[in-house]
Amino acid sequence: MKYASLNHNSSPTSFMKAVINGLAPDKGLYYPKEKVTLSKEFIDSIKNIDDVEICYEVINKYVGDEIPKSKLIEIIKNTISFKIPLKKIENSIYSLELFHGPTLAFKDIGAKFMAQCLDYFKSYYNSKKITVLVATSGDTGGAVAKGFSETKDIEVCILYPKGKISKVQERQITTNGNYVKAIAVKGDFDKCQSMVKKAFNDEEINRKIALTSANSINVARWLPQMFYYFLAYKKIKNKKDNLFSVPSGNFGNICAGILSKSMGLPVNHFIASTNINDTIPRYLKDGIYEPYSTKRTISNAMDVCDPSNFIRIQKIFNSDLQKLKKDVSSFSFDDKSTKETIRSLYNSYNYLTCPHSAIGYLGLKKYLNTSNLNNVNGIFISTAHSIKFKDVVESTINSSIKYPKSIKEILKKEKESFSIDSYSELKEYLLYRV
Ligand SMILES: *Cc1c(COP(=O)(O)O)cnc(C)c1O
Repeated sequence: MKYASLNHNSSPTSFMKAVINGLAPDKGLYYPKEKVTLSKEFIDSIKNIDDVEICYEVINKYVGDEIPKSKLIEIIKNTISFKIPLKKIENSIYSLELFHGPTLAFKDIGAKFMAQCLDYFKSYYNSKKITVLVATSGDTGGAVAKGFSETKDIEVCILYPKGKISKVQERQITTNGNYVKAIAVKGDFDKCQSMVKKAFNDEEINRKIALTSANSINVARWLPQMFYYFLAYKKIKNKKDNLFSVPSGNFGNICAGILSKSMGLPVNHFIASTNINDTIPRYLKDGIYEPYSTKRTISNAMDVCDPSNFIRIQKIFNSDLQKLKKDVSSFSFDDKSTKETIRSLYNSYNYLTCPHSAIGYLGLKKYLNTSNLNNVNGIFISTAHSIKFKDVVESTINSSIKYPKSIKEILKKEKESFSIDSYSELKEYLLYRV
């Protein structure tokens, strides 16, 4: 498969190059050149096919012959090595729990897949040392760190805002051994991100090392997110209409769902559920794309006002707003209703949700109410474990929540990180690290 830039000023490239580059040279997002469709026989028999084989069918055309079948199967096995349950919450409503991976959020899937692809490609690349450089406001850092903690010879540098991420998130970033360097930046997330951007444009650094980014626009993080839409469909034992509500920030997760539908997965409708950073709900309403400045919320992994992956969704619908609206609805919710939902799901169903997942539930309910549907499979995606947002969830339900076993282990480990204040310190580290 070849990948073209959505800015149309770079020539199409291979899967390997798209993974290593992250962004095309013209700064556009990569998009597959050919449309992939799955056969009706495959879709009709999904319920009897092994999980790994389903995922292989879904992704193999996007990878092409650049990774041999046996290796790709091994990568898939490692990627979906944890349980992905579909839990019934109430009539017509299910939670697809994507938070049983190593860092308790759905980003584990994309990060694990990407780390293994890069690990496979590194020997075909060139003599320059590959370094993954990424800035995080919390969740991405842990998933990437963990994803790469088993790949040797690829060093990962994670920049996080010192003192501004949760205790669990910090431990997930700082306890992964020698190849994963955690760097605490004195400042906020924007400062981390601007340092990363500066490094990518720094010629002296680029001469010496191959820097790659592991952010969510990378095709090797985006595409494997299709896996769980197919695996959820496999679990459903009836023939009712299927709806997915996806808590959305940068719109990578929902974009993978929409791509799955374009390949033949039977999904009737998607609901993009956002917090008050509501650029897309407003766009679907009045057709005007106008990002306001980003507002902070308790669902902070979705505090995004100009979602990078939305351009890929536009591409799937050929930029036709009417077609997009037929398949996708979008609603936004504030912190107050998010908290009320966390509380009522806990009180009524003894079900704990993180703030993001609660917004997924709210979006689903709103769509079902406005469209008067009640005999469907309404699935909201639970993107993270409630423990990652311990403080806000505990104060909302007025009760304490237990650490899962894996987190207890991490909390026992010694944290390893060093602090920097300025770009020159980062540059010095990247060039002369020992
Ligand atoms: C990243 C993240 C999201 C948003 O996902 P996108 O693919 O950026 O839309 C939602 N919930 C949680 C917990 C996340 O970490």
